[in-house]
Formats: sequence, structure tokens, C-alpha cells
Amino acid sequence: MDNRQIADHLDAFASLLELADANPYTIRAYRRAADTIRGVPIPVVELVRSGRGRELRGIGPGIEARLRELVETGNFAELAELERELSPDLVGLGRYLGLGAKRSIEIAQSLGVRTAEELREAAAGGRLRTVPGIGPKTEARLLEALAREAEPRPRHGLLLGRAMELVGGVAAALDGEAAGDVRRRRDSCERLAVVCAARDPRPALERFAALPQIVALVEQGERRAVGVTVEGVPLELIAAEPGRFGTALARATGSPAYVAALEPLAAAPDEEMVYAALELPWCPPELREEPFRGAPPVLVEPDQIRGDLHSHTRWSAGRASVEEMGLAARERGYDYLAICDHTPAVGAVRGLTPDDVGRQAEEIAAANELLAPFRVLRGIECDILPDGRLDLPDQILAELEWVQASVHGGQRMPRREMTKRVEEALRNPYVRCLSHPTGRYINRRAENALDLERVFEVALQEGVALEVNGLPDRLDLSGEHIRDALRAGVQVVCSTDAHSVAGLSNMALSVATARRGWATPQNVLNTRPLPAILDRRRPAD
Ligand SMILES: [Zn+2]
Ligand SMILES: [Zn+2]
Repeated sequence: MDNRQIADHLDAFASLLELADANPYTIRAYRRAADTIRGVPIPVVELVRSGRGRELRGIGPGIEARLRELVETGNFAELAELERELSPDLVGLGRYLGLGAKRSIEIAQSLGVRTAEELREAAAGGRLRTVPGIGPKTEARLLEALAREAEPRPRHGLLLGRAMELVGGVAAALDGEAAGDVRRRRDSCERLAVVCAARDPRPALERFAALPQIVALVEQGERRAVGVTVEGVPLELIAAEPGRFGTALARATGSPAYVAALEPLAAAPDEEMVYAALELPWCPPELREEPFRGAPPVLVEPDQIRGDLHSHTRWSAGRASVEEMGLAARERGYDYLAICDHTPAVGAVRGLTPDDVGRQAEEIAAANELLAPFRVLRGIECDILPDGRLDLPDQILAELEWVQASVHGGQRMPRREMTKRVEEALRNPYVRCLSHPTGRYINRRAENALDLERVFEVALQEGVALEVNGLPDRLDLSGEHIRDALRAGVQVVCSTDAHSVAGLSNMALSVATARRGWATPQNVLNTRPLPAILDRRRPAD
């Protein structure tokens, strides 16, 4: 069992605990342990066998005991038991009816049903009232809710970061490739698919059904199967004949509209040959959203990023010190890292006062001595106050090398006021970049009412860049908005907004989003060396 497989088991357990309404701290502890194990360069099996599992960060006695069981038996009892007990679609339906996971399962057991479909049938047959604790009133309420359930509901996909991990894990286990929304790097993924090549599809289908990420198969054909993950999301496996792998991969990658415009596709073992048969250059998956046939631009690549310009430390919302963050950024091969802690108006966490900015400067200078020629930049994530002024005086901002301006509180402002507020901040001569410009949280909070066209115009005049924030639930600007910003002539910055050393790895999500916005390396400011970052250029200058 390798580190990845161990981590997948812990993730599966965490998701089942989530379904079972377990304590959120426990769930987070398992997810974090899975992350740690994925990132460890040595075989965790050996550590656990020699009784040293707890030397790993975030692994306490409870998780260690389960790791031991996992290493010895290939599974752990509680995981198997939860998998037996919890039917994800049943729990999902229960949630929709306003029932906790435990109550859903009690009801299901009392009715002798195992799936959402069977529960619906039992309810329609008038059997709900036979369940202890359900009287006529509750029955009527549940039946009414079930009737409403037939109406279409907005679907919520998985965040790209989680979807990449899930689908990537399944693809790796089957020697296949991630396809679907994940391969196109959509910010919220609904169509999850893996394509593998197999002369005989049976072993691949069997391995798929046995994966810890898949809790149940809902469809099975000769060369394809659909499984449901613990999150209740369907994941499709296509076991293509080797000679048609490229064709199957292109089709499963989508988008449906893009593929439909290319059809008919030739049978070919790889995608390049599929495109060659169409007399087209291969197209990066991130651009396959709308029908598109021309020559694709040369998109920015992750290894072209020279530094990260938005990160936090223990001075505000972060978990690591300036030195730890700088060291981790240097290890990634970067030339620079901007420390951008919050200012007081952010409210929820501590923010830096003018005095703090001075004291942090000493810590940054010390880190720079240690890390040279790598450079830690003195930055700030300065709140934009409701009237458009910034949360620190200009003479403090003038000392800094990189100023991010951010709207945090008061996001429900009407469009005109919000646009004026942001515009005002962009006109401040020390602001270099607008953080998470729309303020959205994917699937949770809509974008702020903001006239982006106007923002792009002012950003261009003032030489301010717009951020592509890499936090998995932000990815802000989105691909579509990035494309508009680039058309307007504005530069973007790919940043992580890292709150920990591990958070620096979200650069992959930021760059993927920039690619969805058709960004070339020239469009992304932090593909440039440090002098270009420090030297503010304004078209008007
Ligand atoms: Zn922020
Ligand atoms: Zn931030």
C-alpha cells in the first residue's frame, strides 16, 4: 500500500464521517492527515510498522491506530462498517428532507430499505407512519417534501481542488487519465470521468468497483461503469480499446458542445492523432469550453511562475512564520514571495497596525539575510474601507514593495457604490493589485455587484494588476472574467493567498484558471523577474 492509497482511505473515511454528521474537527483531522501523507517523501507503511506513525505532523493516537489497522489488514473496520451502513443517496435524500444522517438511517432500517428509491416507494405506499416516532403530521411534511423533490434543483459540483484529488486518485489507481470537467479545470466540477486503455476491460472495471473512493456502482456496461463517490457525485470510468483511447479521452473531456462541433472524431490511440485527422493543432483542455477550431494561444505554464505575491503569516491569518513561508517558496524554485498580511479593518482576524508593519519589516529583513538571493517582499493585504479609502495611511503604504487592495466587509453594497469604492482604491498610487476582485465563494456566495468593465478600465490607466486568487473556493477572477480583463489590456497576477506552507501549492489552481482565461505568460505579471515586479509601470507615465 503506497502513501497515495493510504491517503485515499483516510479521505474516504473523512467523507463518510461527514455524511454521518460526525464532529467537524475529527473530519478535518482525517483530511489533514491524508494531505500530510500524500506529501511525505518516505513510505508511510514503514513508519507505521515501526511504530513511528505519530512522528508525522497531525497524526495523533486515534489516527495512528487506524493507520496500523489499515497497513496490517488493507482496510479498517469502521470504514467498512460506515460504507455498509450509509447509502450516500439515502443520506442525501434525508438531508433534503431535513433529517440528520442518523435519523435517515434509523428510518431506512425500520422500513427495511437501503436506497433513496426504495425509501420513496415505501413513503408512497403509506409505510412512513409505521416508523416509530413518525406521526401523521411528520408523515405529511415528509411526503410534501418528497413531492417537491421531483422539481429540478441547482446542482452543486465539487470544488476543483477536491475534484482533481479525487479523480486524479482514481485515474492513478487505474493507470488512466482524468477527463471530464476536471481535465478542463472547471472551478466547480460536475462531470467526473476517467478514461483508461484496456484490451480486456474487465480487470479495470473490477478494480474501479473496489476502489475506496467509490461507494457504489450505479451503472455498468461492457466498457464503462458509473460509480458514486461518498460525496454522492457520480464518477464515470471508460475502459477504451487501446486503439481508440485518444478518441474516448477527447469525448470524455468535453465540453459536449465543443466535442459536438468537432465530430465525427477518428479512432486513434492518442489525442494528437485525433486532432491531426481533423487537420487541427491539439487544443489544451482548458480552452475546450465553447466550440473552437483555430490555433490555440501559447498558454502560461506553472513552471513559468517566478514568485507568489499574496501570502499570509502568523502576523494575521496564517499558520507559519515569515521565514518558514520564504523557505517553502524558495524550495518551490521561486525568486520571490510577498508577505501580505491583513490590516485591522478585516475584523475576523488580527490585522497589522502601522507599528506592526515596522516590526514585521525587521522579521522580513532577517529572513532575507538567511534566504538571499531569494527575496521576501514587504507587502500588505490592505482593506478597502466602505468609502474607498485604504486601511493604512499612505506614508506606510509607500514603504512597502507590494500592496494588494481587498474588499472584505460590506460586500452587499449597490453596484454603483461598490464600483466607486473599488475605483477609488485603484487610484491610490501605492496599490499594485486588486485581490479576489469579485468576492465570490464558489457555490456559496455570488459575485459582488461590481462593474468589472469599469474596473478593468481604471486598472489599465493606473497600472494595477488583477488577481487570480488560487484559494480553491475563490478562483477569483474566474476564467471568463480573466479573458475579458486580458481583452481590456489589463495584466493578471497568479497568487495563492496561502495561509500555510501547504497553501502555496494552490498556485496550480490559479494557473489553471488563468489558462481557462486564455492567459499567455506575457499576460501574467509574476512570470517576470523581480525588477519588473518592483518597477511599477503605468501607461500614463
Ligand atoms: Zn482577502
Ligand atoms: Zn489574503
